[in-house]
Amino acid sequence: MKARVKSSASSSPAHSRASAKKEEATALFALLEEHEHEQVSLVYEPSSGYRGIIAIHDTTLGPALGGTRFWHYANDRDALIDCLRLARGMTYKAAVAGLNLGGGKSVIIGDNKIRNREPIFRAHGRHVKALGGRYITAEDVGTSVSDMEFIKAETDHVTGLIGKSGDPSPVTAFGVYRGMKACAKHHYGDDGLKGKTVAIQGCGHVGYYLADLLYKEGAQVYATDIDAAKLKAVVDDFRAKAVNAEEIYSVEADIFAPCALGGIINDETIPQLKVAIIAGGANNQLAEERHGDLLEEKGITYAPDYVINAGGLVNVNAELEGWTMERARNKAGEIYETILMVFDIAAEERMPSYRAADRLAERRIAAIAKVRQNFV
Ligand code: NAD
Repeated sequence: MKARVKSSASSSPAHSRASAKKEEATALFALLEEHEHEQVSLVYEPSSGYRGIIAIHDTTLGPALGGTRFWHYANDRDALIDCLRLARGMTYKAAVAGLNLGGGKSVIIGDNKIRNREPIFRAHGRHVKALGGRYITAEDVGTSVSDMEFIKAETDHVTGLIGKSGDPSPVTAFGVYRGMKACAKHHYGDDGLKGKTVAIQGCGHVGYYLADLLYKEGAQVYATDIDAAKLKAVVDDFRAKAVNAEEIYSVEADIFAPCALGGIINDETIPQLKVAIIAGGANNQLAEERHGDLLEEKGITYAPDYVINAGGLVNVNAELEGWTMERARNKAGEIYETILMVFDIAAEERMPSYRAADRLAERRIAAIAKVRQNFV
């Protein structure tokens, strides 16, 4: 958004202050309009110092679900933009995963290392409660299961609780594995991974379980991690070959599986890639959307990140719906069919896969909105 040019008529300090405030308010609503959000709450609770933003992007499919991020932002505007962007991302993720959930997110502005957490998270819980179930929260960066317990003391609209669905990464990894097989089917005409080489970046929760599934199918894993112990576990347990962190992008392999950081598909890494497929669990893999176009030009089959890593969200949904672990796993397994659908749309509409994924999500939301338009 461009900054407005100041008018020479607004010369008195009081007038400037008033017009600056008015401009800021207009800019805030312009942000909501730009990202097409339904509702955003900004809350300040002086007794605890709680400063929270709760963004509800779209509830066509169901209540808006998305975690609470606790972060020290450079300024309030950055916090708002982050919250809006993340909430919108949740709408798309839930829609393509076939879940009856909308998209939302919240941020708490401040130092996430703070010791006295109860008042902050109880305050947050009360404001989540005030939304009457339109928004359901969970863990995210800077928050933990024990913070969720504080929220639970105030509202039932929270998930990811102690002793409930637990670590989502086995389900996430299974979804990534199924999505990878769909990519192989699309690229090679056969979804078998036996004898294929897969370069995994990040041997943490998702990377470890993914390496296990690949090893069991007979794939050769190349792995890297900046944490030597995590890398050693994958090398020892699944006969993976260790690679230096910087070398992972230039490994000659069939598949690259980013399971660590976002933004790793960028101007520096794309020229190094010697793989046919990118299929991994990390969020926000493309540094910018145009990098998805570059992959397409290079003939690399790219599994859009929010489609292939939706197993974590499926796991949270399982907790809300009281599903068994087996049902959650089966649902995450459907990522195979979803990825193939994304490639079909991409081919039909001559667009890169990351755009086709958005199209799939938007179509489902539009279709359900139509079904629900009549008074019943
Ligand atoms: P994790 O923290 O357990 O594992 C990440 C691993 O990456 C760590 O071992 C870390 O040492 C390593 N790493 C960090 N920087 C690296 C680098 N430059 N090079 C190589 N390795 C590096 O996290 P996770 O839960 O396994 O999640 C991995 C990714 O998947 C994240 O982007 C996360 O947002 C995404 N994701 C996870 C889930 C889930 O269920 N855990 C669900 C959806 C998406």
